[in-house]
Amino acid sequence: MLKRGSFLQRHGLWVSFIAVVVPLTVLLTLQYRWLVDLQTTSAIARQATLTNYLEAVATKIEYFYRTTAEETLNVPSYVFSENRINKAAYHFRKKPARGARVLFVHSFRAKDAYRSYFYDCPSNSMVADAPPEIWRAVMAACSPWRVRSYKGEEFEKVTLSVDEMDPENRVILNPIIDESSHVVGIAGMIVDNTFFREELLPEIIEGSLPKFFRAADYENLIVTVRDDGGAVALATDESDGPAEVTRAIPFIYTDWKLGLNSRYSTPEQWARSNFALNVTLSALLAVVLIGGIVVALRTASREIHLSQMKSDFVSNVSHELRTPLSSIRVFGEFLALGRIDDRDKVREYGRYIETESRRLSQLINNILDFSKIESGQKIYRFEEADVAKVVADTLATFEVRLQHEGFRISFEHDAGPLRARIDPDAIAQVVSNLLDNAVKYSGQARDITVRLTRGKRHVRIAVRDRGIGISRGEQEKIFERFHRVSTGLVHDVKGSGLGLSIVSHVVRAHGGRVSVESEPGRGSEFTIQLPALSAVASERPAGAELRTVAEGGSE
Ligand code: ADP
Repeated sequence: MLKRGSFLQRHGLWVSFIAVVVPLTVLLTLQYRWLVDLQTTSAIARQATLTNYLEAVATKIEYFYRTTAEETLNVPSYVFSENRINKAAYHFRKKPARGARVLFVHSFRAKDAYRSYFYDCPSNSMVADAPPEIWRAVMAACSPWRVRSYKGEEFEKVTLSVDEMDPENRVILNPIIDESSHVVGIAGMIVDNTFFREELLPEIIEGSLPKFFRAADYENLIVTVRDDGGAVALATDESDGPAEVTRAIPFIYTDWKLGLNSRYSTPEQWARSNFALNVTLSALLAVVLIGGIVVALRTASREIHLSQMKSDFVSNVSHELRTPLSSIRVFGEFLALGRIDDRDKVREYGRYIETESRRLSQLINNILDFSKIESGQKIYRFEEADVAKVVADTLATFEVRLQHEGFRISFEHDAGPLRARIDPDAIAQVVSNLLDNAVKYSGQARDITVRLTRGKRHVRIAVRDRGIGISRGEQEKIFERFHRVSTGLVHDVKGSGLGLSIVSHVVRAHGGRVSVESEPGRGSEFTIQLPALSAVASERPAGAELRTVAEGGSE
């Protein structure tokens, strides 16, 4: 019987469950709100990352052309003094420019007035000839500076400038000033469009991706470069629709635009799908966590229940042992004194001692069997036997007690032997436990029926009493070890709580099953169903021994 403890002892498990679930719910709510916020900020952050990436690409392009031009076009001013224009060739040879198609100098000095000289790499000299479109582009680019030089403007410092009037011949100019701060000439380069499109752009675009995106992510990104007319000059993959983020290229190729698209989603869709993924993951984790907690608490609750049942078991068994032992001692002492002359009384005492010691043996057998079952050491010795005989023999051992206690017992069975492959001792113990219970829980009723029937494939042993009965809710639990019904009349009857768990184990080891039909106040009928001989024989060889393994929980 379960003892009543303090509130915490009784509701400890619920308290711990609430103690875990409440903070968990708060945490999950906070996390959900955090994820909602994150959804908004991550869409903005994603947009910013895309923008930053294009910014970085644009900056790198500008940096490349500026540094190249600054290094290569840094021609000394004396090149523009008389007859020294060829010195420019030595300078250009020392600093060849990656990405330049044409290198030139344009002199504003009187003698060479308005003359352009182009670097000829094979002869390593400056030549005056160039294709007309190049010549035109250079002249057009240099003309504003020519005017300034003509006006005699003075410059502290001059910087690179770009002329893109002719998109096929884009010019970078570096005006050269002499010691008197006048522009004496110009060093310049016409950039190589093919190099820009086919080498520089892919190199910078691919090279910058890993710094901004994870590998799995940047495979979903498409970078496009469109020229002035909107035609795609370069694209990392096919893309339809306008770019999500665009950026103009500064310094040179200023009419071109960098664009970036996500293959599958806009930043908002990306943030939404991330949100959905995170919420699903959190929900899954919460479910697993709550599941784990429920399982842990259930296990703990079972363990607590079991340990309470074990302590009840110890006190019940001690009582079960002590009461008959003291009666046996008292009756034994009477008999030993030899003062009782009445033969009937002697017989009665003797019968009492016999019945009580039989009950003690049965209790001890149950305990020993239970410990064998628990440790997996119970061995069954199967043999072909007549179930009717085993039941009749067991009934005979109960006869004295039943008669003494005023029971009327009827034994009904189908004619002829009912053969099955069984362990006779184990089945005798099963019948004995059922009979013992029928006697114990009969209350005032004194009527027990044992019925043996043969089905097509089974032999059935039913033990019925007209006693206190068992409520529906308890009917499953009574087969669990140590379980005893703790309400109603049963309070008065002592027992170990092992009998039915042994019955259930033995029957299952025989390949059979046990069931109960009962109604409180009207009695109970326990039925054991064992496979008849033909069914069992095919499953187990003759004389086979079955070692059972203890099963936890409902044994
Ligand atoms: P116990 O030693 O307590 O009898 P059992 O395992 O044999 O242990 O039975 C478990 C519980 O099932 C009993 O405590 C009792 O409450 C209930 N029970 C068993 N047999 C009967 C029966 N014939 N009638 C009413 N209740 C029964």
